[in-house]
Amino acid sequence: MRRWTIVGLTLALLLMTAMDGWALGNSPPYDAKIMEQLCAPDAVLNLKEGEFVVPVLLYHFVGRTTLEKNGWSISSYNVTAADFEAQLALLRQLGYHPVTVREIAAALDGTGTLPERPVAITFDDGWREQYEVAFPILQKYGMRATFFVSTAFVGYPRFMSWEELAEMRDAGMEIASHGRKHVNLMDADDKEAWREIALSKEKLEEELGVPVVSFAYAFGGWRRGLSGMVERAGYRIAVGVGGGSAVHRAGTRYYLRRMEVSGRGTLLTFLRRLPWRGAGTPLCSPPEENSSRRPRGEPVD
Ligand SMILES: [Zn+2]
Repeated sequence: MRRWTIVGLTLALLLMTAMDGWALGNSPPYDAKIMEQLCAPDAVLNLKEGEFVVPVLLYHFVGRTTLEKNGWSISSYNVTAADFEAQLALLRQLGYHPVTVREIAAALDGTGTLPERPVAITFDDGWREQYEVAFPILQKYGMRATFFVSTAFVGYPRFMSWEELAEMRDAGMEIASHGRKHVNLMDADDKEAWREIALSKEKLEEELGVPVVSFAYAFGGWRRGLSGMVERAGYRIAVGVGGGSAVHRAGTRYYLRRMEVSGRGTLLTFLRRLPWRGAGTPLCSPPEENSSRRPRGEPVD
């Protein structure tokens, strides 16, 4: 009992220390171009009835360094740990609240509500770097994400293990389905598509002991009939790729478009795609309104 109190206090202290430097108004030194975009008015979205706004970000690798040197042709999918951290810091600075994809489904069902400025951070494929590199950074910022895993790959050398997935589940991350063998369902017949969709859900639920309600189409591949199949298998929501828009409709709940975060983009490109900015927050208020404190070094009398 006492041991757990100490562990709890240590964790609280660590969290407070981690969050301390990131209170609004205590911004990292962003350059002028970023500050200009940061403080620009929110994007004009002209929402129609039934539409809602959640940027759904798509990541693949978050690596310690770029993968280009290994001869992989996936460098645009590889966001460095430093860039990923800068993106999370920016989201926090702008008051974004990370939600899981399951929470978007709950909001659509009317069994839950979304916070102000929601953002869904998602990862595909189940690469080991997501556990080793991205997960600790998410935890540092107190943020949750959804990991779409292809079940047949779990436990292979470059992929996460069931134990690692369970650890992330326990830390509040959503573990969801990306099919079994990463088959492009656009080219699969109904029988194969059903196996990919239904058996991956079954496997995840069996291994992790939690209901799996979110599905991500491998390669974003979609064809007529798949949405119904995904729904019949018991999923409540599905995500695809493509499109830079954060605007969705209830009618697109079985193919929510995601914003792919490219490893080749800068923080400014990332920021430009976000619907909500910092105008009107202390971060962007003019210096004279922000100078109640005496500048350092000024004499007292
Ligand atoms: Zn994939």
